[in-house]
Amino acid sequence: MQLDSLYQEVILDHYKHPQHKGLSPTFSAQVSHVNASCGDEIILNINLEGDLISELTWDGQGCSISQASVSIMTDLLTGKTLDQAAIILKSFSDLMASKGTSPGDELVLEDAIAFAGVSKFPGRIKCSLLGWMAFKDAAIQAQSKK
Ligand code: ZN
Repeated sequence: MQLDSLYQEVILDHYKHPQHKGLSPTFSAQVSHVNASCGDEIILNINLEGDLISELTWDGQGCSISQASVSIMTDLLTGKTLDQAAIILKSFSDLMASKGTSPGDELVLEDAIAFAGVSKFPGRIKCSLLGWMAFKDAAIQAQSKK
């Protein structure tokens, strides 16, 4: 898989130095998601204060794409409202569906645009979406408990 070298660096940096890794003992909801086709596993804890995502923590193992993506996602979504997070999630999902034709909206996605090139590789899209799908589930579960 060939990605733009700057983007590859962002992904490798998050893979080697994951952000928000290590599960918080308290959480509004906890979900675990598995990408069986690659062997990626992620557990995600979300804490909500009203509509604000006050904390996202995770643990997991798998390929560099899956682990870097959840690291970047937790960095990006912490401190956002659920409405803001939904917009970011939609933008990332659209980027992953673009088959390499979209550069991504850097204003919305920030470092997550590093995954733009991954959308050219159907086998890796599930890897990069794993953490985001876990977030979607966790947000729904946390809201239903309110
Ligand atoms: Zn993977």
